[in-house]
Amino acid sequence: MGKQVTYEGVILRKVPYRDHDLILGVFTKEDGKISVFVPGARKSTKRFGPYLDLFAKVQLVLKDAGHKMLQLQETSLIDPYVVVRESLFSLGFATYYAECLWSMLAEHDPHVDIFEHLCSMLKNVSQDKENFRKLYEYEYQLIEMCGYNPDFTFCGECKASVQGQVFFSYGKGSVMCKTCHRYDQGLMISEQTMQMLQNQGPLSKKSYEEIREVLTNFVSYTLGKQLKSHAFRKGVS
Ligand SMILES: [Zn+2]
Repeated sequence: MGKQVTYEGVILRKVPYRDHDLILGVFTKEDGKISVFVPGARKSTKRFGPYLDLFAKVQLVLKDAGHKMLQLQETSLIDPYVVVRESLFSLGFATYYAECLWSMLAEHDPHVDIFEHLCSMLKNVSQDKENFRKLYEYEYQLIEMCGYNPDFTFCGECKASVQGQVFFSYGKGSVMCKTCHRYDQGLMISEQTMQMLQNQGPLSKKSYEEIREVLTNFVSYTLGKQLKSHAFRKGVS
């Protein structure tokens, strides 16, 4: 028998495998993103059932099953974060956040700061539903902690500080001043939204939607693929 490890993690993905098995995508505090094999999970829910819900924080006892695969031995619930699943909005937001996180990080690359950020988001997102500044911060901070640094203050070319309506370039990962702006993949950000972003104050729903579009496209562009949950999330907010 392979050696056992005990991790604390949040279940971010559940992928059916063969007839009765399941492969979980778990973001753990100790080892970052990992895949966990759960044999027979879909045949009998008795053994692990309620502890394998999406977005639940659990303690996992895992065995090295060879072929770089970890197999679930035991699990116990730390926090089910039930509130996340109580509204379509928070579920949609959490799904999008999870997909960004999953796409931006490599396996076995631990980030305790991102783990804490994820737990805090899951705990609070249902209350933050109307707090657009907070929702923007969840996204921005995640992207930043994953190593990307979208800049809404200085021109990506000449580094001058920008004001008014500006263009955000996905390739540069920053806003562009009017002198440096040339045809490129990106999106215009309105003057009103730029002001709200730079003032650090509350963000309106309209501005949040505008900036979310920029962030989502920036992440998709950077990763070279479209995030699946983008369309879902657009429909629920
Ligand atoms: Zn410039």
